[in-house]
Amino acid sequence: MQDLAALIRAVPDFPRPGVMFRDVAPLLADAGSFARCIDALAEPWQSSAVQAVCGIEARGFIFGAALAQKLHAGFVPLRKPGKLPPPVATVDYQLEYGSDQLQVQHDAFRPGERVLLADDVLATGGTLAAAAALVGGLGAELLGASVVIELPALQGRGRWPVGKALHSLLRY
Ligand code: AMP
Repeated sequence: MQDLAALIRAVPDFPRPGVMFRDVAPLLADAGSFARCIDALAEPWQSSAVQAVCGIEARGFIFGAALAQKLHAGFVPLRKPGKLPPPVATVDYQLEYGSDQLQVQHDAFRPGERVLLADDVLATGGTLAAAAALVGGLGAELLGASVVIELPALQGRGRWPVGKALHSLLRY
C-alpha cells in the first residue's frame, strides 16, 4: 500500500479553508498503481458473490466501475440530485454545512441483489451511510463497502451500519 499512498496528493485548504483534500488523480494516472488499487479494493469480496457495485458520484464512479469489472458484477451509479431521469429513489443526508441528496433509478436492483458500495474517501461517513440506506430501502442486500481512503479522525465508521463490512486501503 506504501506505493499507493505515495500517489495520493494532499491539497491543503481545498475546496474550502481547513480541509485537506486527498487527490486521487495521480494514482489514477499511473496504470500499474490504479490496477493494484482495484485489486486491493476487490480482494476482500472475491468470494462474496457480489452482483452489483454502486459507485457514488463522482470519483466513486471511477473506482466502482473498475471494481465491478474485477468482481464480474454490474455497476449502478448513485447520483447527485437532478441527474437521473425519473422515477428515482432519493435519500437526504446532512453535510458539515447544509444537506445533500443521493438518487438512484427506482428499479436499479432486483429483490435481494447482493450489492457492494464503492467510493474514494470516507470522511464524516454521511455519504456512505446515505448510500447504504438508499440501497437497503430498495430491497437489495447490502454486503458492505470498499473505499480507497479513510480519515479516522472524522469517525465516519460510527455512522456506518453496524455489522456491515467496511474496507479501506489507506488511512490518514
Ligand atoms: P463524507 O460524507 O463526509 O464521508 O464525505 C465523503 C465524500 O466527500 C466522498 O464522496 C469524497 O469524495 C468527498 N470527500 C470528503 N472529504 C474529502 C477529502 N478530504 N478529500 C477528498 N474527498 C473528500
